[in-house]
Amino acid sequence: MRLSRYFLPTLRETPKEAEIISHRLMLRAGLVRQEAAGIYAWLPLGLRVLNKVCAVIREEQDRSGAIELLMPSIQSADLWKESGRYEAYGKEMLRISDRHDREMLFGPTAEEVITEIFRGSVRSYKDLPKNLYQISWKFRDEVRPRFGTMRSREFLMKDAYSFDIDQATARHAYNKMFVAYLRTFAGLGLKAIPMRADTGPIGGDLSHEFIILAQTGESEVFCDRQYLDFDVPPVTTDFDDVAGLQGTVDRWTSLYAATSEMHEPAAFAEVGEDKQMAARGIEVGHIFYFGTKYSEAMGAKVTGPDGVDRAVHMGSYGIGPSRLVAAIIEASHDEAGIIWPDSVAPFDVALINLKTGDAATDAACTEIQANLEANGLTVLYDDRDERPGAKFATADLIGLPWQVVVGPRGLAEGKVEIKRRAGGERESVAPIDLISRLKRS
Ligand code: ATP
Ligand code: MG
Repeated sequence: MRLSRYFLPTLRETPKEAEIISHRLMLRAGLVRQEAAGIYAWLPLGLRVLNKVCAVIREEQDRSGAIELLMPSIQSADLWKESGRYEAYGKEMLRISDRHDREMLFGPTAEEVITEIFRGSVRSYKDLPKNLYQISWKFRDEVRPRFGTMRSREFLMKDAYSFDIDQATARHAYNKMFVAYLRTFAGLGLKAIPMRADTGPIGGDLSHEFIILAQTGESEVFCDRQYLDFDVPPVTTDFDDVAGLQGTVDRWTSLYAATSEMHEPAAFAEVGEDKQMAARGIEVGHIFYFGTKYSEAMGAKVTGPDGVDRAVHMGSYGIGPSRLVAAIIEASHDEAGIIWPDSVAPFDVALINLKTGDAATDAACTEIQANLEANGLTVLYDDRDERPGAKFATADLIGLPWQVVVGPRGLAEGKVEIKRRAGGERESVAPIDLISRLKRS
């Protein structure tokens, strides 16, 4: 992609309304634009990142056996009356009425809709287990939308729902998501720690929030530092291995980790002082087993092997991709701008032409771009008629993992310069060696 033809409205000034670094950088780098309080347009560069985040999420959901579908964003209030949540949900729900004065709403989540789909189609235990997920826009009329896409009113959510015949198999479904989440956050270049979360009236220990440590996080968290060195389950993990997955989950829940709501100072005191970590964190995912809460209320039953009907056991599992984009920036930036992890970078390479208009430099850049793209790398080619300083500043701000700098002086010696955005290391290579160099790391 040539930058001169692209749509990248970067800002030179730091927007005043933005309190935290990720919000400032998302506005400055032209990733998003606020359209109303807590409502954002995703501009082309931001959309590429969001799509990459979703791709990582999808890959791990699919690997764990979950199946993607797409439910409507506008839902009927009747379903929520069946589950008893219509009144209870309160002001966070955006309520709408259609031309026939029917009560509708913009879905803040989809337990009711998925339960309705399930009860209309599944009859027997033989059809279980199932885990269905979607990635779709949700609306919650947050009292205080803030921090850009970190806490917005309209936001993207991956929400999965599992259905099982009993509690034991539901536990396995929960463990699958637990492991998929560990792999997802690692795949996004993040260290997320599963922390015990409140299960409300249902009780039990089957609810975890996945938290990324960050000074600007809204949650106060307490955990054992050793979690930061834990190895993430490998790609070869067998999701059908019930005991194996339980072992992984047991290990990842063996040490102390709790948000302030679940914090037990006495238990935390037993963690050695050198290992205690009291910090702030961002909730990026939440998994929850809630048994037969919705299936009882909404009549989602299956016939068991004994011929008796019973309500299915369910769980729900959320991840916030639009919040994650901000969280990734909180975790990975410097004074000059964003530093994207390779897995979510909107383009792999920023190709910088130091002398646009110079025939040899232009020709070299065009050839390099074609060559990189032919080898599967995505390139944003800065062919604008701008000073080198402005081009470097843009490249640093938007944070693509590699910069390839092409100028007449280097070309005269048969060289271009490569800079790794993350560490800032530079090296000179012949254009012909670019591919092997970029693919090496
Ligand atoms: P929070 O405690 O931060 O308000 P929540 O517990 O209400 O979140 P869940 O219902 O568990 O959120 O939603 C699942 C995921 O959706 C969260 O882990 C988060 O990543 C994302 N999410 C929830 N609310 C928002 C929001 N207002 N803006 C952006 N992402 C959100
Ligand atoms: Mg939550």
